[in-house]
Amino acid sequence: MKFRYANGVPTSTENATANILKAAADPNVISFGGGLPAPELFPVAEMKAATDKVFDKYGRLVLQYAQTLGYPKLREQITDLMKDRHVDAEVENIGVVTGSQQAIDLVARMMINPGDVVIVEDPSYLAAIDVFNSYGAKLVGVPMDEDGMKTDALAETVKKYTKAKFIYTIPNFQNPTGRTMTEERRKELVRVAKEAGIPIVEDDPYGAIRYAGKKLPPLKHFDKDGGVIYLSSFSKILAPGMRLGWLVADKSFMDHFSLMKQNADLHTDNLTQYIVSQFLLDVDLKKHVKKITDAYEHRANLMLELIDKYFPKNVHHSNPEGGMFIWVEIPGGVDTDELFKTCIKNNVAFVPGSAFFAGDIKPGTFRLNFSNMNDEQIKEGIKRMGKAIAEVVDN
Ligand code: PMP
Repeated sequence: MKFRYANGVPTSTENATANILKAAADPNVISFGGGLPAPELFPVAEMKAATDKVFDKYGRLVLQYAQTLGYPKLREQITDLMKDRHVDAEVENIGVVTGSQQAIDLVARMMINPGDVVIVEDPSYLAAIDVFNSYGAKLVGVPMDEDGMKTDALAETVKKYTKAKFIYTIPNFQNPTGRTMTEERRKELVRVAKEAGIPIVEDDPYGAIRYAGKKLPPLKHFDKDGGVIYLSSFSKILAPGMRLGWLVADKSFMDHFSLMKQNADLHTDNLTQYIVSQFLLDVDLKKHVKKITDAYEHRANLMLELIDKYFPKNVHHSNPEGGMFIWVEIPGGVDTDELFKTCIKNNVAFVPGSAFFAGDIKPGTFRLNFSNMNDEQIKEGIKRMGKAIAEVVDN
């Protein structure tokens, strides 16, 4: 059968990133490629205990169809999490989703007609770029520096693209750069967007995983007129396999969102929502997150130390204050897709920068994940990468 696919479906099933991740999944490969949390920190016993309790208390209920925007008790607990993040929200402003990835997809589906402009940080989260492209968006990248998206450049961009549908940003420990947007820039971004009448989609799966620096309020905190749609997730603070995330938005937006969510999957897995709700009642989430941040701080610092030791001296790297990624730039226009091939021969992997750019690819860039490998793997992997980079740079 020759299927006549819709426009948004990629014509080629050859996907460079999928190939990279497949190569990196070989158990002999030390992989700094994927964005996986440390599995040894998943709260397995506590989740099992919460699951047993849920089945004992609510067996029939949790196996039944449920409300589209999520389990009301969990939505209430999420309003508490949001208070801790300096955002006042009511239950009606919260929607539970099947991972924040689903929120990215549904928000994009709600806003994008083919040809519409979406403004993104350059570089940005690959799977969001793919979603926006699948709905036919024209992506316009705004450059970043160590302080996040450059708001002066954004001000110019919104003058040019006055009908842009939204601005997508990851202010905390950005994927892929690990950079954090300063408080001044956050306020300025909200101001520029508001003045231009363009909504912001704030994607914050990593904000709670801060191990250094000062906690900063999300853009949503500065939003006084409902222009910011805030997304977050339990993936990085509990476990990604549970596929549980949420969004926070104005009631009027949520009413539309609810219809789209209903079309997509009626509601997010009811059982998982009850389990996480029970977990949050029984376990000190802050203490659990502290274990994660302590481990990630150690791994990030170890990796940075080894980068300074084994990579050429003129290499530049970001200094993340949390999250899971370090962004590296090798001066001199090195092709990091080629570097990847050399590295994979030496059983070490990363993601070349080319995957993350909406606009022109910045050569010499790549992303390293530090959360998923242990100390020995980090030591050996960075050493191997150092050798491979020296080979490529010398040639
Ligand atoms: N946004 C960003 C920036 C991410 O890095 C990820 C996960 N890699 C997601 C969203 C999706 O996370 P999830 O669907 O697991 O909540």
